Amino acid sequence: MSEHVIDIRQLSIKFGDHLALDKIKVQIESGDFVAIVGPNGAGKSTLFKVLLGLLQPTEGQVRIFDEPAYRAPAQWIGYVPQMKTLDRSFPAQAVELVLTGLNRRWPWRKEKSEYKKAIEALEQVSAEHLATRPVGRLSGGELQRVCLARSIVRQPKIVLLDEPATGIDAIGEADMYRLLEAYQKQSSATILMITHDWHAATHHADNVLLLNRKKISYGPPSVSLAEDNLRLAFGHIGHKHELKFLMK
Ligand code: ADP
Ligand code: MG
Repeated sequence: MSEHVIDIRQLSIKFGDHLALDKIKVQIESGDFVAIVGPNGAGKSTLFKVLLGLLQPTEGQVRIFDEPAYRAPAQWIGYVPQMKTLDRSFPAQAVELVLTGLNRRWPWRKEKSEYKKAIEALEQVSAEHLATRPVGRLSGGELQRVCLARSIVRQPKIVLLDEPATGIDAIGEADMYRLLEAYQKQSSATILMITHDWHAATHHADNVLLLNRKKISYGPPSVSLAEDNLRLAFGHIGHKHELKFLMK
């Protein structure tokens, strides 16, 4: 029995001839806030797809609570997709978007108990006032809160967030971290967040996985984001401060 929440064992993913992930080995401890940092195309979102059981390893395996990821029950993991993949023109209310986190299908028929759970999730992120707001009329920060509510509606032990700060302002971002950390504390959840922002990784993460197809480093931010590692991941950089700029 593994004591790790997530155990990534020599994971490789190939798309045709392209090796997107190369023998990744990482063990993630329960309750950790982990930031995943790396350049575009590093395989960050691909790693999430494996964790979500949407993609089978070409080689190696990923275990979640000692189950192969593809067999892990959906309620174990909450997921906040990249904002740019969301279709905001769909005529739905915020609460309906949250309900899709319970059902994985559109809630044409709303069960009363499910509706209650969705409202509770919105309350958890102080967004109950947005319940009946059309999704298309939410601001970036409001939409991110609703997506957060959707990801925690089944009270998962693991939450995955793919570049959650993209498209929201600084206040919305600070709110999001506060809400996320409150959920993490309350539910002893493990959080994995893909980010382009090494500042955010430094401030919020217990451990940082620096990735560029291969694992460059894994450990506390100050160790994992050491300049030599950043250079390995991103190519030559003059100063650490340039990184944020480089990664845009
Ligand atoms: P990141 O999220 O770090 O920017 P991705 O995980 O999205 O990177 O992609 C890693 C690499 O794998 C990229 O080169 C991308 O083009 C490729 N890739 C991702 N998904 C697929 C797919 N379904 N088919 C083919 N290539 C893919
Ligand atoms: Mg990505």
